[in-house]
Amino acid sequence: MTKPLDPRWAVLWIHEAARVVAENRTLLIELDRAIGDADHGENMDRGFSAVVAKLDAGEVPGTPAAVLKQVAMTLMSTVGGAAGPLYGTAFLRAATSLGDAEEIDAAAAAAMIRAARDGIVARGKAEVGDKTMVDAWTPAADAARTAAEGGAGASDVLAEAAAAAHAGAIATEPLIARKGRASYLGERSAGHRDPGAVSTALILQVAAETAGGQTA
Ligand code: ADP
Ligand code: MG
Repeated sequence: MTKPLDPRWAVLWIHEAARVVAENRTLLIELDRAIGDADHGENMDRGFSAVVAKLDAGEVPGTPAAVLKQVAMTLMSTVGGAAGPLYGTAFLRAATSLGDAEEIDAAAAAAMIRAARDGIVARGKAEVGDKTMVDAWTPAADAARTAAEGGAGASDVLAEAAAAAHAGAIATEPLIARKGRASYLGERSAGHRDPGAVSTALILQVAAETAGGQTA
């Protein structure tokens, strides 16, 4: 069953994102231990726990954009590290792209993922192939656009984005990092998946699952 992508869905998505980040806390820590400083799981878990606490403390906001804006503000103030400002910018740009629409249709879903991706690139200046979360967000945005243009519904747009993000995260494994902390390792960064690309894939996967989307 697909769901209308309304504010209630946005809240559900973020709750599931917090759950999946908490469940994968150790995985994300271990990935970041291999090529960074072992804090990505902790940073993300702290941030999303704070986001859920904040959402649960208030009324459901009136638009999906208002939900995502609140998420952005909380992530920016609680996550820290490189990922905090990057995810904060992603959610803020996603919110802005949605305007005051009460529901997200297929085109808006694709535009939201593109806006998030573009925000991360504007903030972090990484390109595809630099072994960062951009390597998950970029194929996700491309797949979302293709799906929307092909007539998919909004939830299936999210499902295609999630599948592409997952493939993109796996494909970071052989890459040599050129941005962020992992770039200090040079060639030794090869052979490990990028933690931010993996967390991106997890968060988009639950976006699709909560919306009831199916990949083609
Ligand atoms: P820190 O690197 O400060 O310890 P985290 O461990 O929480 O922060 O996040 C690391 C992740 O941030 C990396 O796996 C990568 O995906 C992402 N990242 C780091 N720098 C950049 C950048 N310039 N552009 C995009 N993503 C980046
Ligand atoms: Mg780290």
